[in-house]
Amino acid sequence: MARYTGPVCRLCRREGVKLFLKGERCYTTKCALERRATIPGQHGQGRRAKVSDYGLHLREKQKTRRYYGVLENQFHRYFEVAKRKKGVAGTNLLQMLESRLDNVVYRLGFASSRAEARQLVRHGHFRVNGQKVNIPSYLLKENDVVELRSKSRSSAKFVELIEALPTKTIMPWLQLDVEALRGTFVRLPEREEIDIPVAENLIIEFYSR
Ligand code: SF4
Repeated sequence: MARYTGPVCRLCRREGVKLFLKGERCYTTKCALERRATIPGQHGQGRRAKVSDYGLHLREKQKTRRYYGVLENQFHRYFEVAKRKKGVAGTNLLQMLESRLDNVVYRLGFASSRAEARQLVRHGHFRVNGQKVNIPSYLLKENDVVELRSKSRSSAKFVELIEALPTKTIMPWLQLDVEALRGTFVRLPEREEIDIPVAENLIIEFYSR
């Protein structure tokens, strides 16, 4: 399945929640969801129709996939791994999504959205434990260190992002060394620490049907 390349604000309007796909704009009154919270398309102008049980499960899965910008096949693979791991499958799934390199780059403040983080990783701007890694889906392990490459630090793309780093709120499972432009994935997050408003049990039920 190809990656969606249309207007991303439509995805938020479809899911009825902010997915934070456009960086700083998402935090301003220019956010499309704040201005027009209807479902996109000619049938989306009225009230949201009553959703079937299947629809409820499907929407939760789509919403989570879109938050993290993961394609269906890969998302399904994460589910398969999460189900086989010890612990709660839904939590395992979210922990894997949070461990992705593109997500950690975004969480550390080196990109203004996950989509931008994905692109920056692909362009080879980051090292993991000293090695260049350009795979956005690369899964980090405890104590892995993510670092902005020294060559990239002077690039115009990063100047503004670096200036804003001291103001960023860093998630409790990550550590950021602002001076060294280096972050550590200290540990897997606990479910209560992950600020994504999804009911992951519905996703597990969706794939388990
Ligand atoms: Fe979603 Fe951001 Fe667009 Fe708002 S501005 S609708 S949060 S992508």
